[in-house]
Amino acid sequence: MPETYPPSADFAAAARLRADDYARRYAESVRDPAAFWGEVAGRLDWFKAPTQIKDVSYALEDFRIRWYADGELNASVNCLDRHLEARGDKTALIWEADDPEVPARHISYRELHAEVCRLANALENLGVVKGDRVTLYLPMIPEAAYAMLACARIGAVHSVVFGGFSPDSIAGRIADCGSKLVITADEGVRGGKTIPLKKNVDEALKRPGTNSVETVLVVRRTGGAVDMQMPRDRWYDAVVGEQPATHAPARMNAEDPLFILYTSGSTGKPKGVLHTTGGYLVYASYTHEQVFDLKEDDVYWCTADVGWVTGHSYLVYGPLANGATSLMFEGVPNYPDVSRFWQVIDKHRVTVFYTAPTAIRALMREGDAPVKSTSRASLRVLGSVGEPINPEAWRWYHEVVGDSRCPIVDTWWQTETGGILIAPLPGATTLKPGSATLPFFGIEPALVDANGQELDGATEGNLVIKDSWPGQMRTVYGDHQRFIDTYFKTYPGRYFTGDGCRRDEDGYYWITGRVDDVINVSGHRIGTAEVESALVAHAKVAEAAVVGFPHDIKGQGIYAYVTLNAGEQPSEELRKELVAWVRKEIGPIASPDHLQWAPGLPKTRSGKIMRRILRKIAENQPDQLGDTSTLADPSVVQSLLDERKVK
Ligand code: ATP
Ligand code: MG
Repeated sequence: MPETYPPSADFAAAARLRADDYARRYAESVRDPAAFWGEVAGRLDWFKAPTQIKDVSYALEDFRIRWYADGELNASVNCLDRHLEARGDKTALIWEADDPEVPARHISYRELHAEVCRLANALENLGVVKGDRVTLYLPMIPEAAYAMLACARIGAVHSVVFGGFSPDSIAGRIADCGSKLVITADEGVRGGKTIPLKKNVDEALKRPGTNSVETVLVVRRTGGAVDMQMPRDRWYDAVVGEQPATHAPARMNAEDPLFILYTSGSTGKPKGVLHTTGGYLVYASYTHEQVFDLKEDDVYWCTADVGWVTGHSYLVYGPLANGATSLMFEGVPNYPDVSRFWQVIDKHRVTVFYTAPTAIRALMREGDAPVKSTSRASLRVLGSVGEPINPEAWRWYHEVVGDSRCPIVDTWWQTETGGILIAPLPGATTLKPGSATLPFFGIEPALVDANGQELDGATEGNLVIKDSWPGQMRTVYGDHQRFIDTYFKTYPGRYFTGDGCRRDEDGYYWITGRVDDVINVSGHRIGTAEVESALVAHAKVAEAAVVGFPHDIKGQGIYAYVTLNAGEQPSEELRKELVAWVRKEIGPIASPDHLQWAPGLPKTRSGKIMRRILRKIAENQPDQLGDTSTLADPSVVQSLLDERKVK
């Protein structure tokens, strides 16, 4: 009997939805999706309400995905203007600086509206028109939200590039979508260090393919010295300051593009995922309200950077469309010390907290004391996103961070899906640590075998989604064929997620990792997540990554990279102990054939382990590492290669 956590009676009593509501709403949503999503669309303000709700065919010869196709709206109006009357003075954004000594800022809906209108006017004056692409390369400062919403207001398509990416990564993304304008800052500040953003843009714009850029707007964040190239480069405050604080929003068709966002590239070359206006905003706002059980006076904090899809859907668009108070944090979890997250929660009385397993594991490694020194009494709901959360980390998050009081919503989704597809509803769903639980309304997951045969009951296979939902991506920018080939060819008639998954006897979904991360050892399918979870459950292990490598006898062998907790020393004895531990936890079939000590693991900026790189190291093919430019810290690759040589 696996451990289960039903919603507490108190929580359920105050929640939007309870268990029987979920079952009923879900059944309705899949019985008649057009009726369901037509009704949900009423949550937005439309210039012209849609009458055509769903127009979708996954058939290759007649492929189309359209939602609300005759509707007209503006995303920024939905995030701003419509709240002015009832919530004009409510805080829309709380900004918490990297340095805790810098006063936090509270930006009301009225102020946010004015800032966005000023920038929208400025962008139009600079010649940006509907359909133009604008690249945002910004730190986590309010201007990042202003810029996204100002683009939405005039109908320009934003492409946010994470502020930690290199000049090559920026250049590649600018060239791919042909941006006309770039908005950046002099420098970013994270963990007490400055990042030369403007300098990186200067470097990027020397690369071939970037001469579509006419203007670079520079926000003054630190006042550090930068090289302004006139007339290309303009100071943000100078350009925006004089502009009127009102702006007539563009009337956008529901299917007009809202933004492009490049995937994190953990499985290959990043794809320019394109989302459109109507369906995306309906889906982001509705999932945000339901999955976090949103209340009017919530202080909601999503720690994701705006450079990641979670920052788009659940820091900016979802919360602001819902009139919520959304906290934006400039810094990192361990600066000035490892209590920072919890201190910020107390300081702003955060009620809903949404972060990634990588952050949870890193903080768990530091022990309970830095958490226990804070109150966290304001917390109501905790969320997780980005990778499978191993049960060990789940329990710690639940017991230590949430004082066993707050439900955890483990949300499975992708850049491609626009919003959460599989997750608990905190007042309705009984939780199981490590499971993303049940599908959201309108989502029909299925598990298929390698031949596309649908599997029934408790089983394991490749996760597909059988029908469309409004937040689904519409194309890979500039390469519609790649979109169709990647997601709709493998299993015709279904959207292929690329993830492996297990379904238990209660119909709960357990993501096991990427399909190409499932290892086949002597004919047994072993999910990398399962072995990693077992390793991390050992008291001395902080983090682990597992990949397959060619094995003469077994077909594939198991190669484990292990990071030890602070203060633990690697030894031959410990190596043996860990192998025996996995044997005991999962079974002899899963015992690692190789176990390499890893001072750090190669991760994307969103915290995902880049297993394709680890596979190449395990296979001893260091010359085939591929694109490493989206790594958070490229130097860890070299240290792993060195470590492998020593062995
Ligand atoms: P690329 O597609 O370029 O390789 P990426 O898949 O890392 O990049 P994202 O869209 O940010 O880019 O990540 C989505 C993936 O993250 C999912 O397919 C899944 O593998 C993983 N994921 C996200 N949330 C969860 C979760 N709650 N549980 C398990 N896995 C998750
Ligand atoms: Mg992906």
